[in-house]
Amino acid sequence: MIKRDFLEKLAPVEVEMIRDYVLHEICPGVEGTANAENLNRSVKRCARCGSKKIIKYGYNNKTQRFECKNCGRTFSSTTGTMFYASNTDFETWSAFIDCEIKGLTLVEEAYTIHKSKTTCFNMRQKLYKAAEKVQRDVLLKGDVEMDCTFLPISFKGTKPGNMVRKSKRRGKHKRPIHKTKTENKEPQLCIYTAMDEDDNIIFKAANCGGERESTYMQYDEFIDKKARIIGDYSAQLRGYIKKTNRSSDLIPADEKDRLIFTTESGNSLSEVNELHSELKKEWRSRHGISVRHIQGYIDWLVYLKSLKYQVEGMYRKHRAYMDLMAEKIPFINKLICRLPLPVDVNEVYGEKYDGIYAFS
Ligand SMILES: [Zn+2]
Repeated sequence: MIKRDFLEKLAPVEVEMIRDYVLHEICPGVEGTANAENLNRSVKRCARCGSKKIIKYGYNNKTQRFECKNCGRTFSSTTGTMFYASNTDFETWSAFIDCEIKGLTLVEEAYTIHKSKTTCFNMRQKLYKAAEKVQRDVLLKGDVEMDCTFLPISFKGTKPGNMVRKSKRRGKHKRPIHKTKTENKEPQLCIYTAMDEDDNIIFKAANCGGERESTYMQYDEFIDKKARIIGDYSAQLRGYIKKTNRSSDLIPADEKDRLIFTTESGNSLSEVNELHSELKKEWRSRHGISVRHIQGYIDWLVYLKSLKYQVEGMYRKHRAYMDLMAEKIPFINKLICRLPLPVDVNEVYGEKYDGIYAFS
């Protein structure tokens, strides 16, 4: 094992020499490395049934196969991961993850890794799905900031025949709107956010329409029973706090038009608000995000936040690759555009345009 203090004692030129030696003599380079090679050692269970009774089962196209003694089926180390049925090698995936960390657009990514926009889009959705793991098994403790924000519901990329609502009229021919204020209001997507002192985050596309008591209730399992809720003085949040019998510190409602942003003890929703503005910035720079894929973008945003706390810039793409490579992805490319929506849109569009339930 090479110790860090050994490397630190070396002259820069010696470090360079060791690096070149490792790259050229010991590893013949990463060019053309298959993702399976990175994953082989991490295979401990059957990818299909989860049994531990597995044996090595020869090679197929230089890829190690495994056989399960329980279900009798064979698999490789990439079965069920984001690399499954993908011809994209390790180097390209690594470059792609780097593009995603930098927040490039699909067009820029396609240009950088020499793949089509569609391939990049599919890679992106799988990567984002793997990043979902940061919001799994978390328990928010101590002071927990909690709030909701709203985004317009976008069906970007959905074919006209599959729309749940009529397309909007745009441009010069737009009819003048003679609607009352409430009729005119476009339905919105309610996004739930909670964050504790250790920067653990739960960030979810919760429901269509407004903030509700149930919006808060559905993520209650992620909040420690002893946590104290910091939030604003909305009836829905108060309802949730009362129902779950939690302690709270709420920002008082503004009296006499004086806006108050902190609780009496000086707590505010600043961290959660920052997350909201980051999501809205992302939304604008991407000209809207489809409601079908919004949770993926949110998961990636949360993952990037944790990644940035963990490691310095230059190591991030490798850390992200290692973190996410073994995650199980429950869909394949051709199903990406038919994935179920994270929220029930029929509850806002269903009545007006019934019969076109393309998303059910
Ligand atoms: Zn099995």
